[in-house]
Amino acid sequence: MKRWQKVIQDNYGTPSIELVSGRGSVVKDAQGNSYLDFLAGIATNVLGHAHPAIVTAVSKQVSTLGHVSNFYAHPNVLELAEKLQKMTGEKSARIFFCNSGAEANEAALKLSRKTGKSKVVATQESFHGRTIGALSLTGQPSKRNPFKPLIKGIKHVPFGDSAAMKRAITKKTAMVIIEPIMGEAGVIVPPADYLKNLRSYCDATGALLVFDCVQTGMGRTGDWFGYEYSGIKPDVITLAKGLGGGLPLGAMIAVGAAAKLFTAGDHGSTFGGNPIATASALAVIKTIEKEKILSHVDEVGEFLLAELALIPGVTEVRGAGLLIGLTLDKPVAKAVTKRCQELGALINAPSESFIRIAPALNVSLRQAQKFVVIFAQALKESINV
Ligand SMILES: *Cc1c(COP(=O)(O)O)cnc(C)c1O
Repeated sequence: MKRWQKVIQDNYGTPSIELVSGRGSVVKDAQGNSYLDFLAGIATNVLGHAHPAIVTAVSKQVSTLGHVSNFYAHPNVLELAEKLQKMTGEKSARIFFCNSGAEANEAALKLSRKTGKSKVVATQESFHGRTIGALSLTGQPSKRNPFKPLIKGIKHVPFGDSAAMKRAITKKTAMVIIEPIMGEAGVIVPPADYLKNLRSYCDATGALLVFDCVQTGMGRTGDWFGYEYSGIKPDVITLAKGLGGGLPLGAMIAVGAAAKLFTAGDHGSTFGGNPIATASALAVIKTIEKEKILSHVDEVGEFLLAELALIPGVTEVRGAGLLIGLTLDKPVAKAVTKRCQELGALINAPSESFIRIAPALNVSLRQAQKFVVIFAQALKESINV
């Protein structure tokens, strides 16, 4: 911890443990303690740690061709773009690769400017990233306020409120961006017709509908993309987190007319779609397909939803697949997170009364059972102090 404070800026605070190795859903710290990893690098290590398919694909790629820039094509970026196009079910889909979620949303914001309009509608409490453009889309005052002035013309309306959206979206709106299921704000699934309504308001005004699937994409919810429950399709999908299975990779996928807005020279990224990161993403997608992991996500997710709801002190469990949020009846979320860590499980408390868990998608039912026992004990002890 002293070493951290001497060399790392204070933007994260100081972590209490140092992780040195991992296998599947188990990680080890520098002292040799083991933890069940129920955060997975914040919904990122979708196949857990050191998955053989990723290790093999990345090792092979790094010893063949590491980086080429986008002046040149390479087999992985083509194969991955073809896979993602197929996953969207839209032959018109075209992909831009970058390295993170913030960059994917920045790319969407720039793309929307090419409609000739500049107004944006986003939602309160949303999270879209930390760069100035992505932060301007983010609807959390605590993250925004220290960095004002942000980009103008972005209106934030309450999440899940169709009438507020209808009022905010006009002929001047370039894009509407939402998380199809709110992640950081509490794993909130909006009312059934909400996304459908947004689709119709955007169709009526010509605004691009952008779904930020950075957290809810890549199988996290039991579907490839977090919006699939709605039955409608957006104009733009942004991805990152799980896409690279732990390697830095993001994507901005545009469909239909939106796929033609960028022309040569409009945007770029030196590392975007790099051979190594895309090798990892291909290993992730092929493994999820081969091992039928999406149905496994539904099964383990349902188990966790049911079991966690029975624990005294838990007032509500919300979720979609293996993105699960728990509301507690006392403001002890940070204490529970700390106690869980001492008892051997890693989770996250975005606020004092809300806990987020997002294990690897291939976490076993046994590990889920073990986690429930640890969590119940940690919560009991945190309430009784
Ligand atoms: C994490 C996250 C981002 C930002 O991703 P970074 O890779 O940290 O830039 C954007 N949107 C959502 C929904 C996220 O969960």
